[in-house]
Amino acid sequence: MKVLITEVIWDQGITTLQEEGIEVYYDKDLWAKRETLLEIVKDFDAIIVRNQTKVDQELLIECTKLKVIGRLGVGLDNIDVVKAKEKGIHVVMARHANATSVAEYVMAAILSAKRPIHEANEDVKNGYWDRRKHTGEELYQKTIGLIGLGEIAHRVAKRATAFGMEVIGYDPFITEYDHIVAETGVRIKSSLDEILVNSDFISIHVPLTPSTKDLISTQQLKSMKPSAFLINTSRGGIIDEKALCDSLMNHEIAGVFLDVLESEPVDPSNKLLDFKNAIFSPHIAGLTTESQIRISLLVAKEVGKLLKG
Ligand code: NAD
Repeated sequence: MKVLITEVIWDQGITTLQEEGIEVYYDKDLWAKRETLLEIVKDFDAIIVRNQTKVDQELLIECTKLKVIGRLGVGLDNIDVVKAKEKGIHVVMARHANATSVAEYVMAAILSAKRPIHEANEDVKNGYWDRRKHTGEELYQKTIGLIGLGEIAHRVAKRATAFGMEVIGYDPFITEYDHIVAETGVRIKSSLDEILVNSDFISIHVPLTPSTKDLISTQQLKSMKPSAFLINTSRGGIIDEKALCDSLMNHEIAGVFLDVLESEPVDPSNKLLDFKNAIFSPHIAGLTTESQIRISLLVAKEVGKLLKG
């Protein structure tokens, strides 16, 4: 059995496969060498990718032996799942393996919104000792509104509850009997607007689909409190970036944390970059050492299991 790995994997994943007696060919940059990839892929029983390798029709036609595609992470945008299914190829991914990392990122964002220690640090190092300027605010009894109440939102809700925050959420696909309600005390609202109007922080946790595209646009931003912060760790495209620019320009919201953008890597001409209260990160909310080890292990085990039947 031979497995081809075309993007970065943690060592634990490789070792797991080798311990199963599986031969591993690993080149973390192979996704960028399309010709070589197409030439060698036909010799492998499984391929493990992240989000860069295009596992499309052209590649799948070359694969006569392929039984499994492993995706290190979630989101199958780069894989032609329909064609894979047609050919009887299993597609496995690491669902929820980075949910805790994303939830902790959201807590870091909202904590830093109210206690920007890095800014105080800069002042102190520049010779200023201004205690009043750096008066913060507590998270205690503030309201966080969660849009989408799936796995990540569940973990955010648990952490926010531990901080004594009010947690409200909107998700038309879950009911008040769902385990997230029982475990976190999140109060479910029946409309998105109730979340927007009542929250001090709004965190987005829905997938990007035709119905969530531009879910947060001009009208929704206008509904938010001027003191509220918006956090998007979900997918670019769920917030209408043009509307967000206008909203920041008009001081309609206090700020935004964007881990994801409509176009990634960020376009240097993106107007959002000009706002001091728009805080960016390069799609790293789910990226921690622990989540990467968990993902590598999970996918390697699953691929190994399927190959060995
Ligand atoms: P999940 O599938 O567990 O939950 C998604 C929830 O959204 C579901 O409960 C669903 O009912 C709800 N939903 C769907 N459409 C909705 C709508 N129109 N309004 C309200 N709710 C709606 O997903 P998850 O694991 O919590 O992940 C959420 C998102 O986070 C995904 O889009 C994923 O791509 C993204 N993500 C980002 C990173 C990162 O590094 N930034 C890492 C992991 C996941």
